Amino acid sequence: MAGRQRHRLLLENAEQLVQVCGRREPYLRRSGAASLGVLRAASLVVGLDGCIKAVGQADVIRNQFSEATFERIIDCSGKCVLPGLVDAHTHPVWAGDRVHEFAMKLAGASYMEIHQAGGGIHFTVEHTRKATEDELFTSFQHRLERMLRAGSTLVECKSGYGLNLETELKMLRVIERAKKSMDIGISSTYCGAHAVPKGKTATEATDDIINNHLPKLKELKLSGEIHVNNIDVFCEKGVFDLESTRRILQAGKDTGLQINFHGDELHPVKSAEV
Ligand SMILES: [Zn+2]
Repeated sequence: MAGRQRHRLLLENAEQLVQVCGRREPYLRRSGAASLGVLRAASLVVGLDGCIKAVGQADVIRNQFSEATFERIIDCSGKCVLPGLVDAHTHPVWAGDRVHEFAMKLAGASYMEIHQAGGGIHFTVEHTRKATEDELFTSFQHRLERMLRAGSTLVECKSGYGLNLETELKMLRVIERAKKSMDIGISSTYCGAHAVPKGKTATEATDDIINNHLPKLKELKLSGEIHVNNIDVFCEKGVFDLESTRRILQAGKDTGLQINFHGDELHPVKSAEV
């Protein structure tokens, strides 16, 4: 019963209200995605807790909530109401533009050839290490604002252009700052194993992550400075092999992080089995 309750928001009389799943399916896939659940002339109510309380035909909602009050009412006539998009994989904190690599790619260079020539991740690492925290935050903020304008309401954001503890923490602090100050949901990921840093073998990099990076993240979580949600490894031929990946992910899991990694992206190496 809606009664005289107070609610946060009423989106009223939308031309289209896209529910995605219209018949209580848990999700849609393949051909199912071609028939989205769309209501016409519909309204939606958001409660004070931020959760959706009701969705339905505008006249039905109007009756049901006739005695309720709303902090805000938006007339959605002629408009389409969509669920927020979830961007599940992004590397949005970085400095140094890699537009020139498009020319290399157009000339036929592969991802790994660019990577081995010092381009790709290594190029970005070099520039991200030099950038100040404020510079990284400012550019990251612009990127998040653009994502929000394009409809994303929850974004997974990875570190991984530092590869050393100092810069990885700098990136994670930038992500933490955005979590607190921006009106967009962020799930943060430590991706210190995004590439093997120059001057180290994969085993040395793995040891450094397990013995130095992860304990520091745990310490910063306990002190309330940085709350990281997930851990990621680039499990790939010539980067981190299955064994290193397993060690890093296990250590991350033991630290309380959720697993979320790049596997079988360029070469099938059976990373799904990890
Ligand atoms: Zn990635």
